[in-house]
Amino acid sequence: MTSPVRVRFAPSPTGHLHVGGARTALFNWLFARHSGGAFILRIEDTDRSRSTDENIASIVDALRWLGLDWDEGPPAPGYRQTERLETYRAHAERLRAAGRAYHCDCPPEELDRQRRAAQQRGETFRYSGRCRERGLAAGALRLRIPTEGATIVDDLIHGPVTFEHGQLDDWILVRTDGTPTYNFCVVVDDVSMRITHVIRGNDHLSNTPKQILCYEALEYAAPAFAHVSMILGTDRSRLSKRHGATSVQAFRDAGILADALVNYLARLGWSHGDQEIFTRDELIALFDIKDVASSGAVFDATKLEWLSHEYLKARDGAALAVLAAPFLRAAGLTPPADGARLAAIFETVKERARTLVELVARARFYFEPPSVYEPKAAREFLTPEGAGRLDRLLARLGTEREWSPPAIERAYRALTAELGIELVELAQLARLALTGGTASPPIFDVLALLGREEALARLRRARAAAGGGA
Ligand code: GLU
Repeated sequence: MTSPVRVRFAPSPTGHLHVGGARTALFNWLFARHSGGAFILRIEDTDRSRSTDENIASIVDALRWLGLDWDEGPPAPGYRQTERLETYRAHAERLRAAGRAYHCDCPPEELDRQRRAAQQRGETFRYSGRCRERGLAAGALRLRIPTEGATIVDDLIHGPVTFEHGQLDDWILVRTDGTPTYNFCVVVDDVSMRITHVIRGNDHLSNTPKQILCYEALEYAAPAFAHVSMILGTDRSRLSKRHGATSVQAFRDAGILADALVNYLARLGWSHGDQEIFTRDELIALFDIKDVASSGAVFDATKLEWLSHEYLKARDGAALAVLAAPFLRAAGLTPPADGARLAAIFETVKERARTLVELVARARFYFEPPSVYEPKAAREFLTPEGAGRLDRLLARLGTEREWSPPAIERAYRALTAELGIELVELAQLARLALTGGTASPPIFDVLALLGREEALARLRRARAAAGGGA
């Protein structure tokens, strides 16, 4: 009988959640949800100098925003490494008592000197094993690894990767000051949390043989491993701040929809034929770690925006009103109390917005009158002739009893026929008056949604700007 799947996402809280970390979390989450297993969140905060509570809060917040819910983890106690020091101590003691680990008192200055010398020779520093047989009772605790042979990491993405033991060394499990090292904590956590599959970035691949040797020394079966390739920038170097926004928060603040980011990250290195858009349920049903590419994937912000646009226009106005609320506030705009009207407003602008920031920018004119008219359009439309047309439009619309798009359209058509002009000419004039520019959603919707009073006030203001006598 195989044990139920248990996977974990184990961020070190030294900064915000990066898209690379988010993708690792997503692959773990999809793997767990696909197999009906458990997804665990563990905070690797043993590096106390760089870990902060603010960073933990921000990572948790970003995961929640992405909708990657965990079955075990904070705020429950016991999922932060700093809370688990006793467990590490007990495991270290077991290894020491069994002779699988030994104390080392080599002075750090001496080890540093050897490290520098190795670097100068262009070699990787490996501990000499000086204290292996000395039977010391104190000092750093090192894992006794086999001197011969090799450890093979049978990676689910990369296939077998061989590490000769001659290339590894007796690495430190516990430092002289009693603090456990990162690699040791990971092993102890993964065994005590009964993790079945470790899915993580391939920047950790070189740690894996060390960790496997530690599982062996503890006489535990090692989990399966899958090392996900790095996300690259357009220059194919590892994605970093140099390439622009990389934190999940930055994309949220830019108004990218969470579902779009999830969809985008899933497709970054994983594919299912040439399908681009997946619902979460489809992702869960189709995700297989074996379909994750072994080569790095290039982050393409334009494609992410395209996906965000696809998701945005598929949402109805009411859903957009909820999503856009913080962006309206940030833009200093007060939405109408009438929710249906707000929903209808967003319906009119969603086709042309890639992000919630753009959605709000495109809807801005509904909430406040234009402060300036686009100069080129003003020269074309706010003329004596335009003034005459605005007078006629104001007279006609002023008597319009039914303030709805069809009624307004009827009034418009009647007026253009009387004036002997094209509908578009009158429409552009009204657009300029109502929005300050000549690109806007369908003009009859705009007029209707602005409400009679506001619409007429803006037409009057444009009329005054056009100058000339009535
Ligand atoms: N804490 C590590 C990181 O943030 C992850 C280690 C692991 O998944 O084993 O990169």
